[in-house]
Amino acid sequence: MSQESVITFPLFERRNGLVCAFSTRFGGYSTGEYAGLNLGRNTGDRAETVTKNRDYFFRQIAVRAEEVACGEQIHSARVACVDRPGTFLKTDALITRQKNLFLAVVTADCFPLFLFDPVSETVGVVHAGWRGVQAGIIENVFQILAGTLQINPGRLLAAIGPGLQAECFEIGEDVFRLFARSYLYPHPRADKRFLNLRQLILDKLREQGVAPAHLEASSECTHCLGDRYYSYRRQAKNSGRMMGIIGIR
Ligand SMILES: [Zn+2]
Repeated sequence: MSQESVITFPLFERRNGLVCAFSTRFGGYSTGEYAGLNLGRNTGDRAETVTKNRDYFFRQIAVRAEEVACGEQIHSARVACVDRPGTFLKTDALITRQKNLFLAVVTADCFPLFLFDPVSETVGVVHAGWRGVQAGIIENVFQILAGTLQINPGRLLAAIGPGLQAECFEIGEDVFRLFARSYLYPHPRADKRFLNLRQLILDKLREQGVAPAHLEASSECTHCLGDRYYSYRRQAKNSGRMMGIIGIR
């Protein structure tokens, strides 16, 4: 497996001006538990090191820190349409039509979801953890894309990055009760329950009208691939974060 600091999605390649990337742990300046390319602030890692790491990542994808918009990310279902860089409070999904504005999502196990409409050149990013997905963040995003912005979901492209896959996504009884049985990942131990969140996100995208051929989903597990990704499940409060970026140059 390669030791690139940046992964991309074949679905989004060869699209004029489109930048879509997701970071790995490789490269960067963090040490100890955070070793590698930690891009998350509020992780316990040194702030100046995270800034250096972010500069490194942004250089790799030819984006400047001043061009980036990011939600505060509180595991909510709140979506914001944005036209300027900066941090957007209490927001877990961002949408823009602004060129040279790059939308960011910061994750460790939650799924980063990237959206692109090639016709209107609209991009979106979603912090898709179980709380936000269960609270309807994907439906809320499509209400804006298909409703307010009049985008035909049938031409939209959607990519899901690495996250906590079903075989590692153990949930308690309280969480289990919130989801349909079909998303319970079968496991030999009857007293354990696992959630297939990636499948749920894929099904929700299809329900919203995204064509199967326009969907791409990473099967990489942040929990299993410890050298490659940070995982909150695995590292708890000492976990770093990856960053996903989408925007049009
Ligand atoms: Zn795993």
